[in-house]
Amino acid sequence: KVISYQGFYNFRLKLIAKCQHLGIPVHLINRFEPTSKVCHRCGHKKVDLKLSERTYQCPKCSYTADRDINAALNIRDTENFELAY
Ligand SMILES: [Zn+2]
Repeated sequence: KVISYQGFYNFRLKLIAKCQHLGIPVHLINRFEPTSKVCHRCGHKKVDLKLSERTYQCPKCSYTADRDINAALNIRDTENFELAY
């Protein structure tokens, strides 16, 4: 609901159009991909990660990072994506 209020879909359309204009590939991943829950260093999946936890701390390898940075790195490196155009 919050995402729709913020016009995220509109942002997405504009981002894709801009990237297409500049020749930058846009990788679309499945919205259910557990990018926040997976440790970027070792791949461990933290199934009990709460939305209130803003820092990702891996119980397996002790990797610690901002939650969104960890997710962004997983999104960047995933091979499971479709090209936007
Ligand atoms: Zn880890």
